[in-house]
Amino acid sequence: MQNTRPPRPQFDCEVAIVGAGPVGLLLANLLGDAGIRTLVLEKRADLPGSSQAIGITPPSLAILSKIRLAEKFVARGIPIRDVFVHGDQGLVGCCSFRRIPGDHPFVLSLPQRLSMSLLEEKLRSCDSVRLVRNAAVTGISPQEDHVTLQTNGIGGITAAFAVGCDGHRSAIRELMGVRTRAHTYACHFVMGDFTGHSGMGDDGHVFFTEEGAVESFPLPDGLRRWIVQTHSPMEWTPPEFISAMVRQRTGVNLDAGQQINQTWFTPKRLDCHAYVSSRAILCGDAAHVMSPIGGQGMNVGFADAAMLVDVLKQVLRRDGDVKALLSTYEKVRKREAAIAANRAAGGMWLGTRRGFFLSRARGVLMRGVLLGFMHDVVSEHYAMMHSP
Ligand SMILES: Cc1cc2nc3c(=O)[nH]c(=O)nc-3n(C[C@H](O)[C@H](O)[C@H](O)COP(=O)(O)OP(=O)(O)OC[C@H]3O[C@@H](n4cnc5c(N)ncnc54)[C@H](O)[C@@H]3O)c2cc1C
Repeated sequence: MQNTRPPRPQFDCEVAIVGAGPVGLLLANLLGDAGIRTLVLEKRADLPGSSQAIGITPPSLAILSKIRLAEKFVARGIPIRDVFVHGDQGLVGCCSFRRIPGDHPFVLSLPQRLSMSLLEEKLRSCDSVRLVRNAAVTGISPQEDHVTLQTNGIGGITAAFAVGCDGHRSAIRELMGVRTRAHTYACHFVMGDFTGHSGMGDDGHVFFTEEGAVESFPLPDGLRRWIVQTHSPMEWTPPEFISAMVRQRTGVNLDAGQQINQTWFTPKRLDCHAYVSSRAILCGDAAHVMSPIGGQGMNVGFADAAMLVDVLKQVLRRDGDVKALLSTYEKVRKREAAIAANRAAGGMWLGTRRGFFLSRARGVLMRGVLLGFMHDVVSEHYAMMHSP
């Protein structure tokens, strides 16, 4: 049959991705795997030094399997199969991921910097993708059949579609004129990584006490992350702050001399009214920000990327109506992001209630949930099995 479609105009690339964070890098790999000409523009010269996300859920590992990366991730990370929950009076129960169906019955712990490094290494094998660093995008002009991006590194770029993967302070979101709703939660945390597993092996431990929450997860290379709830934002803390708080609330003795980094954060939420404007699309933290407690932001971004790549494949093949396909992406991913943000906020609310009575009531509730028939529902909920 004769092809009656008009020839596709030649742009610099079919898809321009703004931002080489974990979500932009994954999206680039998925597009590269489909042979789509992609340009990734990243303002940083190198990978960021700090590490935020560590928890990679089974649905995210399934996405990574599509580009044959899941095994590499698993080999480099630590599979967390059990998370022990403690209250004021000792162990309350265990949230086990062991019965989760599929190839990955665990949540993988891998620092974000290492995930990004594996994704970037894999990107080098994609002939149709180019990553340009030191290229900050400063402007975007959507046209009827393409988008023009202005950069302060390599001049103007034309693309059939532009995807803003430029994180929670997204310039692309601003330039698209997307309305947002922001909320800052009234709880605060300090986080630090320590050498040594404190005798806790590969298990996660969360301590919900009347003084505040403490969470602890294993990291590769013999490290362990400790996250401590604080009463106010702690931009500065004295040395030994985390170890002292951990000792006071949990009885675990950490050697302050083994702490290798520290950061503080106050969780925020940001919801966007739209993810799509003409041929510009938002993905990852540019589209939604949620509390990091519960470890979901990057995983939701990975699921955005997995859906978006299918949509872009169809629109670039001209297999469907561009507007309808992009609006389905927006509708589905907005709904999933809202579910994840509510889940993160709910878990954080429950875990951070302080005081004798609330803490004891929480202990009773959690014991009932973790020991009863609800256990598998809870573990699948936190592994994001039904709503990635
Ligand atoms: C303390 C903490 C712990 C967390 N733990 C977890 C966890 O365990 N699991 C989880 O799923 N999530 C977690 N998160 C959330 C996770 O870190 C984010 O969801 C994730 O980083 C989002 O990835 P992204 O690629 O969308 O954005 P980002 O990681 O923010 O990357 C955006 C990239 O865009 C680049 N950029 C920005 N503007 C421009 C521009 N104009 N031009 C070119 N490039 C630009 C930036 O330099 C950056 O490289 C945590 C967050 C925090 C703060």
